[in-house]
Order: sequence, then C-alpha cells, then structure tokens
Amino acid sequence: MALGIYEETQRALQQAVEALQLPEDVYEHLKEPQRVLTINIPIRMDDGHIRAFTGFRAQHSNVLGPYKGGVRFHTSVTLEEVKALSVWMSLKCSVVGLPFGGAKGGIVVDPEQLSAHELERLSRAYIRSIREFVGFDKDIPAPDVNTNEQVMAWMSDELSQLEERNVFNTLTGKPLLLGGSQGRKEATGLGVAHVAELAARAFGLTSEPSLQGLRVAIQGFGNVGSEAARFCAQSGAKVIAISDEKGGRYDPNGLDLPALFAYRAEQGSIAAAPLGQAVGPAAPLALPCDVLIPAALEDQITADNAASVQARLVVEAANGPTTSEASEILFQRGIPVVPDILANAGGVIVSYFEWVQDLESYFWAREDVIDRLKRILTDAFGRVYAMHERKAVDLRHAAYMVAVERLAEAMQLRGWY
Ligand code: NAD
Repeated sequence: MALGIYEETQRALQQAVEALQLPEDVYEHLKEPQRVLTINIPIRMDDGHIRAFTGFRAQHSNVLGPYKGGVRFHTSVTLEEVKALSVWMSLKCSVVGLPFGGAKGGIVVDPEQLSAHELERLSRAYIRSIREFVGFDKDIPAPDVNTNEQVMAWMSDELSQLEERNVFNTLTGKPLLLGGSQGRKEATGLGVAHVAELAARAFGLTSEPSLQGLRVAIQGFGNVGSEAARFCAQSGAKVIAISDEKGGRYDPNGLDLPALFAYRAEQGSIAAAPLGQAVGPAAPLALPCDVLIPAALEDQITADNAASVQARLVVEAANGPTTSEASEILFQRGIPVVPDILANAGGVIVSYFEWVQDLESYFWAREDVIDRLKRILTDAFGRVYAMHERKAVDLRHAAYMVAVERLAEAMQLRGWY
C-alpha cells in the first residue's frame, strides 16, 4: 500500500538522517512537529446562522529561528497534510539557509462558497484563535493555496487591533502599503526559472546558466506557473506547452505568451485559447521537451506515468508533484529532478526579505530583492549539487541531506542531543 504524505515525509527524513550517519536522536526530534493545534472556528454567516470550520496550525521545528509557513483554505486540508507541509517548510528554510523553522496552517473550507464578508470573518477568527502562538519572533504565517494579500491584510489588522499597536511584521505576503515586499508576487516563479537555468547548465543542457533555446513545458498556469513561464521565456526558452485544470495549449514552435496571458485575463482559463493545439491538463507531463515544470498540484508524476516523461530535466515548482516511486523511476532513467524544497523556495526567501524589511521599517527596491533572491538560490543550488555529486544520490535526497545536516548541527549547538 502506498504511504500517506506524512509517512513518506517521515521516511525521507529518516533516510537523510541515516545517510548522514547522524544519531537516531536527530530523527526523534524531527519526526513530529513540536506543536500541533486543531481549532474549531465558529463564524456568523451572512444569513445569521453560525457555522463552525476546522482549522490547523502545525509548528514543526524552531531550532533555526521562528516558525514560518503559509495558511491554506481548501476542502482537502487535513491534519496529516498540514503536518507534512510543516516539515517541508523546515527543510525548505534550512536548505536555502534562512533563519526560520517550519510551520503550516489551514482551514477546511471552500472559499468560493463564502461571501467576502464571511471570508474576512473566518480569516480574522483563525488568526485570533492562534494569536498566542504567532508573532514576528514566534511563528510568521503567509499566504498559501486560496489565501492572498487581502487575507494577510485582514489577519494583520486583527492582530494589530488586539495588540493595540501595528504588528505587521507577524505575517508576510501582505500588500505593499501594509509592509509587503517588492517582488513577492513573482518570487516563486522567478526562483523556479532561475533554478532551472542553474540546473540546465549543471546537467549539460546549456553551457551558461540560461535556458537559451530550450523547450519548456509547464503544468499549471496560476501564480507560480505563469510567472515561471514569463521568466523562462526571458531566459531564452521556448515555452511549448502550458495547461490549467480545464486543459492546455501546445505549440512545438513556442506559444505566444503575451496572447496567452491576455486570454486568461479575459476568460479565466486558457483551455480554449486560439493558440497551438488543445491538450489535456496532464499533457505537458508527457510531451517532448527539455525542461518540465509541474506547477499545479501534488502527486502529478506517479509510478503510472513516470515512464512517459520525455523531458531531460524536471524542476518541481509545485509542492510534492512527484511521488517517491516516480522520483526513483526518473532517477533510474537519468532524468534529474530538482526538488520542490529548493526549486520553489523563492517565495519563502522573499517572505524572509519582507520580514527583515518590516523589522527595519526600511524597504528595498525591486532590483535589490531580485538580486539577493538569485544569490541565495545560486548558493543553495551549489550546496545541493555538491552533495548530489559527493554522495551519488539524486537531488531530492541531496537537498534533504543538506537541510537535515544544518538542522542537526543547530540542535547539537543548542544541546538538544
Ligand atoms: P494557483 O492556485 O495560483 O495555481 C494553480 C494552477 O494549477 C491553476 O492554473 C490551476 O488551474 C492549475 N491546476 C490545478 N489542477 C490542475 C490539473 N489537474 N492539471 C493542470 N493544471 C491544474 O497556485 P500557485 O500559487 O500557482 O501554486 C501552485 C503550486 O505551487 C502549489 O503546489 C503550491 O503549493 C506551490 N507553491 C506556491 C508558492 C507561491 O508562492 N504561490 C510557493 C511555493 C510553492
């Protein structure tokens, strides 16, 4: 039977601890979040009746700094998923060298079924319920699936009203006017494209860190997929396929991206755009290309379809798009996979910059944000690539090992084992 998302995460952690020949004590610290909250959030609906929602916050490890992680609003949110995502955040912050631990939160809700006022009440009630556990030096929430700048603004306001002072530095992903950072919106997609450039050179697809002349296929045309498409094209790539949940477009000569963006702005989905040929939502995964960027959801490349991947390089923009069985198949086939905890870390890196800027009340120009983001990702890619070569493991195991090594060292310095 396939392992659940949380058991898979624990197994990967344990493998990293063993491969690094660290004491079992390290795994004992890391295998469960330090704190898990389950909350009941009753709110008044617009028609006057009360409806209770279930919410979670998992704080995995604060050995390197305050907990950091998004809050998602989705009907499929479970405690198991939130716990696994909190571990991934610890690993992600560690692998790129941020002074943060990992956390994640969520509410079981379909936000499309709520009015704007109901959504506001729910957002405020959620942060109120976990108020004593968050703070700029405790736990710093951020947006995730189906949450955005507006939700962060409501949550920041709620905390600020309760504290009777502005505490905008407790959340990231806020609007610019309330202490947000330049570059946050495009950070994840830009980071994905930058990591793809570095990997393309490292694995001999290009002679420079660039995507010049490469064919890129992308699954998902949301925040991350669309920004990744834009920056891949800027780096010289031909984006030949993009899909969203309704369908996609494919043109082996390269899609007209400005036309695709314009179509999406009008129609919502690109499925029926009059460009190239129509393909299904999963089609980009199996099309001939140089770089495949899964930027939609978890569990898209599985043991069932890993054999049909025709890319020379996979860069994981989504969290968990490749199952561990599929990773193994791709490794055996010689297709490198840059793992999510490295490839999509651009978002949390710029969240870190937002936190720093808020603490100083001094805000940087967009170019400074982008330069620093690229530098951090370049260093992190170098560390992971070196571990991959030294230990002859795939990039995912290498990234986990780099991350766990830092966590273990900090734990030892603090006297935790
Ligand atoms: P989003 O909701 O803006 O976009 C998701 C896109 O995927 C949409 O275009 C949607 O239509 C498409 N999609 C959904 N199901 C699909 C399917 N079955 N086939 C093809 N396309 C499908 O979300 P996002 O913010 O772009 O996040 C995408 C992924 O990246 C998620 O896994 C998220 O956790 C991860 N991620 C996001 C950020 C960030 O800063 N937004 C940071 C790190 C990781």
